[in-house]
Amino acid sequence: MPPAIRVEGLEKEYGDVQALDGLDLTVPEGSFFGLLGPNGAGKTTFINVLVGLVRKTGGHAEVFGNDVEDDYQGARDAIGLAPQEFNVDRFFPIKEVLHHKAGYHGVSEADAEKRAAEALKRVGIYDKRDVRFDWLSGGMKRRFMLARALVTDPDLLILDEPTAGVDVELRHDLWEVITDLNDEGTTILLTTHYIEEAERLCDEVAIIDSGRKVTVATPDELTEKGSDTLTVYLDA
Ligand code: ATP
Repeated sequence: MPPAIRVEGLEKEYGDVQALDGLDLTVPEGSFFGLLGPNGAGKTTFINVLVGLVRKTGGHAEVFGNDVEDDYQGARDAIGLAPQEFNVDRFFPIKEVLHHKAGYHGVSEADAEKRAAEALKRVGIYDKRDVRFDWLSGGMKRRFMLARALVTDPDLLILDEPTAGVDVELRHDLWEVITDLNDEGTTILLTTHYIEEAERLCDEVAIIDSGRKVTVATPDELTEKGSDTLTVYLDA
């Protein structure tokens, strides 16, 4: 089985800005992998290249062996993404948003309904299934973003700062849900500014800065390297 993610010499330029500058990274299948780095390090750009939202300007990127551009659908269907921003259709009840998403990924109508219910139960907002996204509280919106990522039953779950600004109780709830998913075999890529979160959840952590890899280590190794590595590269 190929790794969940493999990128080599990955580059992305936005005009004069070099957002990714020769990034090399491998995320093993089944791992819980953390991606850390200061604001502007290139974390979201990296994710956007993987899911096909932006085109790379150089290098190679694949998801479970599928090239993210040449075999876009293969790569995209393997990924469930919970992005930072709430880019959700606000005109439908949330269960319908999930049906649409599952349908878009080729899931049958009957299965879509089942999967939507399972995803909403998993994150604890099944009782809100007939409500529109805008009417959810901030915490429930975060839960919904995770449910939406799960509805296609992805092999790779990508979470872009899923616990930014949430209270302790919700953070712990979300940790539990994603830890269970990882135990069941889902590979997780998590970006975060919270070192405590990375230490608690991740098998391995990559620190990137200015679009390049600084280090890959286990959380214990990072702690051993001492505060220098962490304070230089994290601004949490
Ligand atoms: P944060 O932790 O703040 O979310 P990040 O590590 O996710 O940051 P990116 O959002 O990938 O970093 O940004 C990397 C660089 O690319 C930054 O300099 C950013 O300003 C720039 N950038 C990102 N998107 C665009 C865009 N659409 N057009 C121009 N520049 C962009």
